[in-house]
Amino acid sequence: MTVNDSIEKIVLGQRRYFKTGATRDVNFRIEQLKKLRAALIAKEDEVIDALRKDLNKSEQEAFSTEIGIVYKEMSHIIKNIRKWAKPRRVRTALTHVGSRGKIHPEPYGTVLIIAPWNYPWQLAIAPLIGALAAGNTAIIKPSELTPAVSRVISSLIKETFPEQYVAVVEGGPETSTRLLEQQLDYIFFTGSIPVGKIVMEAAGKKLIPVTLELGGKSPCIVHEDTPLELTAKRIIFGKFTNAGQTCIAPDYLLVHHRIKEPLIQHLKEAIIEFYGDTPLHNLDYGKIVSEKHFNRLSDYLSNGSIRHGGKTDAGKLLIEPTLLDEITWDMPVMQEEIFGPILPILTYENLDEVITSVNERPKPLALYLFTKDSEVQQKILSSISFGGGCVNDTLMHLATPYLPFGGVGESGMGAYHGKHSFQTFSHMKSVLKQTNMFDFHFRYPGKEGLNLLRKLMKP
Ligand code: NAD
Repeated sequence: MTVNDSIEKIVLGQRRYFKTGATRDVNFRIEQLKKLRAALIAKEDEVIDALRKDLNKSEQEAFSTEIGIVYKEMSHIIKNIRKWAKPRRVRTALTHVGSRGKIHPEPYGTVLIIAPWNYPWQLAIAPLIGALAAGNTAIIKPSELTPAVSRVISSLIKETFPEQYVAVVEGGPETSTRLLEQQLDYIFFTGSIPVGKIVMEAAGKKLIPVTLELGGKSPCIVHEDTPLELTAKRIIFGKFTNAGQTCIAPDYLLVHHRIKEPLIQHLKEAIIEFYGDTPLHNLDYGKIVSEKHFNRLSDYLSNGSIRHGGKTDAGKLLIEPTLLDEITWDMPVMQEEIFGPILPILTYENLDEVITSVNERPKPLALYLFTKDSEVQQKILSSISFGGGCVNDTLMHLATPYLPFGGVGESGMGAYHGKHSFQTFSHMKSVLKQTNMFDFHFRYPGKEGLNLLRKLMKP
């Protein structure tokens, strides 16, 4: 059987299975999620090994950013799914007296999840949890750039679920293309902006709804009143986790000109505290995923001037945590998402400059602002559009199941995590149940009811 035949067979099998109605039963969903949780726990060591192999993630990083986050999401969803899945009664308008309005969440059907390589475990499994919680069947297409994690996901799913319920199709862009030609009911894509456009075009041909979790250049604004040591630690944590290969990593710093020098000093100290004097020899420091990305990132090192780091090891695909100073907006490093351990530093004199510069560019996936001043916070939050972010921290908005996570504009559309995952993977079906006890004539043709209608409906 060819790959194409097997993809068609999987999709047909899932569509047939979905139609049996088995996945609509909430008890079934909870049971399956618990089965998935047990399987994840059993495979935890294999996942940690695979993340080490593909990205040199340390056990600490693997657990905190990939495994733990998935457990947390899962427990939260299992605990609440009954409540979320229940039809919800809504108010009735005066014109609708006697009737009842209810919203019935229902699954879409067969969901395709396409995952990237940077958090290859979390970004495949977290959407899967939402898709299954909402009562769908699912197909996961992990990234071909992290083959070890892709294999663990594939074997875990095969050992846990029948293919007609959850399947994994491994492969690269051609496999994705074949999958996108199928009759699917929902597509959840995480990856780059160019591929996001391809996915949306393919979905548009069949009017398949999509969530696009994309990327972009996320600014980090550091105002002059912030406590520098703590701020530096939080920035370094957000930027150099996974060697900067994080969709919501602070891409560049916009620092108030008066604090640039002391901040750089604290940033250097934080890098040394977290990764040591020779990060290229730190066995727990992440590597760049491929030679192509290593070369792309290495080219940025000639932009501006290096204030810290800058050394590389091509054989091991390592780049030191690097601070770049004297950066201007027209340099190559400021033209596209960096997605690596290089942090350009720009300065500003007033906040209006910051707002204009950020708003001239595509809406970012994340924005970080460090300031104690609530007026400054209010000013930035009310004048810049971005997917999500933090005040006085980085990355942490992603790690709570209570906040919807997603982009806006070029950084994506739709959101997930916790209840928002359940909603993303559910169609909210509106149903009005009418009474037969009485009937209002004013809605029928004729002038008789017009006066009453005017009274009821005119503002
Ligand atoms: P990518 O777009 O190259 O690949 C993502 C997935 O799409 C992979 O599974 C890949 O096989 C598939 N793919 C690649 N080319 C394709 C094509 N022509 N047609 C169909 N499918 C194709 O992205 P990546 O390099 O894996 O990930 C990095 C990007 O993802 C960055 O831009 C980053 O910001 C973004 N990202 C976003 C989030 C988020 O949650 N918003 C999370 C992680 C990464």
